[in-house]
Amino acid sequence: MTEDYYQTLGVNKSASKDEIKKSYRELAKKYHPDISKEKDANEKFKKISEAYAVLSDDTKKAQYDQFGSTGFQQRYSQEDIFRDFDFGDVFGDMFGDDIFNMFFHGGGKRNQNRGRDLAYELEINFEDAIFGCTKDINIEILDSCDECKGTGSKDGKLDSCDECKGTGQIRLSRRTPFGVFSQVSTCNACGGEGKSILHKCKECNGTGRVTKNKNVKVKVPAGVGDGAKLRISRGGEAGVRGSSAGDLYVILKVKPSEIFEREENDLYLHVPISFSQAALGEDIKVPTLEKDVNIKIPNGTQSGTKFRLKGQGVPYLDGYGRGDLYVIIDVLTPKHLTKEQKKLFENLKKTEEKKSLIEKIKEFAKGLK
Ligand SMILES: [Zn+2]
Ligand SMILES: [Zn+2]
Repeated sequence: MTEDYYQTLGVNKSASKDEIKKSYRELAKKYHPDISKEKDANEKFKKISEAYAVLSDDTKKAQYDQFGSTGFQQRYSQEDIFRDFDFGDVFGDMFGDDIFNMFFHGGGKRNQNRGRDLAYELEINFEDAIFGCTKDINIEILDSCDECKGTGSKDGKLDSCDECKGTGQIRLSRRTPFGVFSQVSTCNACGGEGKSILHKCKECNGTGRVTKNKNVKVKVPAGVGDGAKLRISRGGEAGVRGSSAGDLYVILKVKPSEIFEREENDLYLHVPISFSQAALGEDIKVPTLEKDVNIKIPNGTQSGTKFRLKGQGVPYLDGYGRGDLYVIIDVLTPKHLTKEQKKLFENLKKTEEKKSLIEKIKEFAKGLK
């Protein structure tokens, strides 16, 4: 279920930056896991912080307002949301950056052993971006070791870490304007896991991961654009000794079409027609994404005339329906005339009105207004 960030922070859409910040600070004091007695304080604190991370950032807020909760979360992972977010900016050094790690790496423990996120550039055809597709990619990646099932331990046996007595964290108390808080930091000896290995697995040298070639299926949704970023959760590097894997980001490079120009969800198609077609009018067949369709060119059609084919454009990513296809008529002046054509044009010219150029310019100018 996606939440409305404005509702979460108890502000309305027109709230100022200061109002948003004030509301967040108040809620944060209420729900901070080190202070709050409420049962799901951790979860609530995370939710308000997520809402604040988005609404306090001009770019993210604009995207959120444009795409709504669901659309926004398709574009931003949790880590993206918090990437440039500075808790210190709101609280001074009251809470510290371990809050961030507490959210994402579980249970108040910073996990330095999480696998790295990876990026992969995938080139796809114009049509594949419009209609969606599934692609197989092959990546060389640090993946979980099969020999020890990612534990790093030869016999699967683990011992408790001496340094932190198996808790994975070192706790320190800090005095702040709101009282004394205990600050949690990660045990460096075990990387926050609270475990140490008795006998290392030889295959992975105790790390729990080895380099492998991995096939990954990438599902590209219909309507994506060039540069779109798809996140495959846990598709990145395996974590050290069974810690959670990083994410894989697939960045799409969309090949241009030979005939269509794309602008967001609309397509543009330039169709050349001849003088005589423009003057006399004609039914012509033009290509769309799916099939050829008939367009009636009325007599007297000018160059630059636009025809709109409703719903023949690119599907919307977040909802139903599609953009439009615009057919733009370009009347071509013939460059090479046969003898017969030349004769016809000469005869045509004789029949044309004998107005002065300045009169024609004035008339044309009037027509443009
Ligand atoms: Zn191993
Ligand atoms: Zn430890």
